[in-house]
Amino acid sequence: MSMNATETTNHYLTQAFDLLELSPRYKTLLLTPSRELRVEIAIELDDGNIGNFIGYRIQHDNSRGPYKGGLRYHPDVDLDEVRSLASLMTWKTAVVNVPFGGAKGGIQVDPTKLSRRELERLSRRFIDQIAELIGPDTDIPAPDMNTNAAVMAWMFDQYSKRYGFSPGVVTGKPVELHGSLGRDAATGRGCLIAIREVLAAEGKKLTGTRFAIQGFGNVGSWFARLIHAEGGRVVAVSDVKGGISNPDGLDIPRVMAHLKATGSVVGFAGATPISNEELLTCACDVLVPAALGHVLTRDNAEKVQAKWVVEAANGPTSMEADQIFERRGIVCLPDIWANAGGVTVSYFEWTQNTQKFRWSEEQVNRELDKYMVDAWRSIQTMMKERRCSMRTAAFALAVSRVKEATDLRGLG
Ligand code: NAD
Repeated sequence: MSMNATETTNHYLTQAFDLLELSPRYKTLLLTPSRELRVEIAIELDDGNIGNFIGYRIQHDNSRGPYKGGLRYHPDVDLDEVRSLASLMTWKTAVVNVPFGGAKGGIQVDPTKLSRRELERLSRRFIDQIAELIGPDTDIPAPDMNTNAAVMAWMFDQYSKRYGFSPGVVTGKPVELHGSLGRDAATGRGCLIAIREVLAAEGKKLTGTRFAIQGFGNVGSWFARLIHAEGGRVVAVSDVKGGISNPDGLDIPRVMAHLKATGSVVGFAGATPISNEELLTCACDVLVPAALGHVLTRDNAEKVQAKWVVEAANGPTSMEADQIFERRGIVCLPDIWANAGGVTVSYFEWTQNTQKFRWSEEQVNRELDKYMVDAWRSIQTMMKERRCSMRTAAFALAVSRVKEATDLRGLG
């Protein structure tokens, strides 16, 4: 039986709890979200009808700092998925050691079916519905799938109408509106730093390494651009409409231009069309799922040809696939470290907002590198000391940090 997202996350956590020999009273405390909000979002559609949507904000843990996590607009958004993603944020902020807790939210909606005006009304109304529970020192949303800097700008504006100028209420804002330089590329750049370090530990380089990337949105396209610029060979990419491959390497700047002109990577000249499923099992060294969760399952894990899986997406590997990868010696760079570059630069954006001071892009990138590499050193130490997988080490590191903060604060 395949497990749902929360069960999978909790399974990984349980492995970390066992490794740390945590007492049962902590387990329940660390697994249970502290708050779950479900809201109705009713808006007037362009044709005069009323559109009803369901939104969520789940606050998982704030022992290390304000709740932090993205907002996703997708038809599959449900309580189970958001719960699991909120929990992952708690462990992610702890792995990279930024002073935040974990939260996540989203709206069950297919945003491609809404006009820009409808999307704006939806985003503003959502903020009205969750405004009492968020704030620059309470809970700070950010972009996720199908939300972007423009959506964050509306949310910042809507919140500020009620509470006054509050740029720190959301991160991932446009650079022209209190956003941070380098935030757009941060998650992809963080993934690059992660795989660079893992390869380096084995005496290998990015140059000439073959990458297959599923999802060509914010994370996937930035990762592809940066890897291409570093001399890595991107042999396959895809988006929701399908994929393209070229074993000699795709010309990523030209793929970007094609995407801009047509709205998809599909149809790019100088490449063979492939399906999203074929991409996951194509010949490559590094597989990078950068779209949806639960795409690597027991049905395709045996056929994966990559040696490394960079979890750019959240929760792309099912528990069964994880076990198959471990048996086959395929190394997963876990989401809570590999894709933590976004929340790390979100932290830099938030500090810039609260300090009313702007960093250069160079400083942002340098600090991001430092946070990702520091996390890698701690994960490596845990792996060596406890003789466990990279995922279990990352979770154990995170759990020990959250437990420590919980202990220091007390339950009083
Ligand atoms: P995005 O909306 O910018 O891009 C998503 C991409 O995935 C698009 O190319 C889309 O066409 C593609 N896609 C959607 N459904 C698909 C399907 N069924 N099959 C194949 N491709 C599909 O989203 P994003 O911000 O790039 O986020 C991608 C993933 O990375 C998500 O899992 C998200 O949670 C995770 N993530 C994002 C950030 C961030 O900073 N944006 C940070 C950490 C993790």
